Amino acid sequence: MEVNIAAVKALLASPQDVVIFSHRNPDGDAVGSSLGLYHYLRSQGHQVKIILPSEYPDFLGFLPAVEDILIFDDFPEDSKEYIRRATLFFILDFNSFDRIDKVAEGLDKDNRPRIMIDHHLYPEPVADHMFSDPSASSTCEMVYQFIDDLGHAGWVTKDVADCLYTGILTDTGGFKYSTSPALFRTVAKLLEAGTDDYKVQDHIWNSMSEKQLRLLGHCLANRLEILPEYRTGIIYLTKEDYQHFDIRRGDTEGIVNYVLRMHNMMIAAFIHEQPTIVKMSLRSKGEMDVQQICKAHFRGGGHRNAAGGASFAPLGTTINKFKKLLPNYAAEIDAAYHEFNNK
Ligand code: 5GP
Ligand code: MN
Repeated sequence: MEVNIAAVKALLASPQDVVIFSHRNPDGDAVGSSLGLYHYLRSQGHQVKIILPSEYPDFLGFLPAVEDILIFDDFPEDSKEYIRRATLFFILDFNSFDRIDKVAEGLDKDNRPRIMIDHHLYPEPVADHMFSDPSASSTCEMVYQFIDDLGHAGWVTKDVADCLYTGILTDTGGFKYSTSPALFRTVAKLLEAGTDDYKVQDHIWNSMSEKQLRLLGHCLANRLEILPEYRTGIIYLTKEDYQHFDIRRGDTEGIVNYVLRMHNMMIAAFIHEQPTIVKMSLRSKGEMDVQQICKAHFRGGGHRNAAGGASFAPLGTTINKFKKLLPNYAAEIDAAYHEFNNK
C-alpha cells in the first residue's frame, strides 16, 4: 500500500474539524474503527463527529462515546451541517461511495482532504490518501497500524483499545479467520493498553435477546436447505418471518455462519426478503471466492470469504437463481474443498 504518511501527519499537525464516515448497516468493525479513531483524534486536539448512514446494532451500545455518533437517516440536517463545516474527512471500512449512498452527495467533487482506511477488495478512488490492505483482518487492525505509523502508539488508551478490539473480534469471528502473526501482536498491544478482553467478549458474544435466540432456532429447524453436492447450505427468511418474529436490523447478524459449522460445507448463504429488495450474505471457506459470485450476479462485493449483494427479484426467484448458479462453480467448490482438507 503506497501512502504518504508524512502528508497525513502534516494534515493532522493543526486542529481539524474531522468527520468520520462508515458504511450503512454498520457492524462491529465499522463502529469500532470509527470510535477508536474518534478517541485518538480527540486526544490530539481535533473536533470529531462520526456520521453513519443508518443505526448501529444494540450490542455495540457499550462502546465508549457511542452516544455521540450521528445517524444520517435520523438527523439529516444536523449531519449536513457537520459535513459542511468539516476540514478533513475519514472514510473507514468501506471503499466505494455507494456504501453510504446519499451521505456521499457531492463528496466526489469536494476538494477538502479525505483519508480512507479500509480492508475491502478493489478500492475505488474515494480519497486522496488511501490506506488499503485487503489482507488485514479488519479496519480496526489498520487503525491501530495507522496510529502507530503516526508515531502515536502511546496514545492508544483503554477507550481506543476497547473500540479497536471490538472490530477485530467481530470481523475475525473471534479469531476464527483472517488472523496473522501481526494481528496477534496488535492485539497484545491492545491488551497492554487496558482492554478488558473478557468483558468486551461478553458484550459481543453473549448479548442475544430471547427473540434472536428463538429466531436462530427457527432458521436452523425450518429455513435451512442443504445442497450436499455443492457443499452449500442456504438459510432464507420470508417477509412473514420478519413480521412473525418482529425482526429488526441486526437480529439476523451471524446466522449465516451456522451453516459452516456443518462438516464438509464450503458455502453458506443467507437470503432474506426486505421491504423493497432481497438481500443476501455469503460466507465460504478456504480458496472458495464468494466475493466474485456477489459481484458477478448480485450487484455486490466484499471479501473472498464474506460477501454480500442484493436482488430486486422476489425471494423464491432469487433463491432459484442462486441455486442455478452453483453448477457453474462446482469445480471451484470441489477444488477449494480438497485444497482446504489437504493442508
Ligand atoms: P454481510 O453479509 O455481513 O452484510 O457483509 C459481508 C461483507 O460483504 C462485508 O464486508 C460487506 O462490506 C460486504 N457487502 C455486503 N453487502 C454488500 C453489497 O451490497 N455490496 C457490496 N459491495 N458489498 C457488500
Ligand atoms: Mn470490516
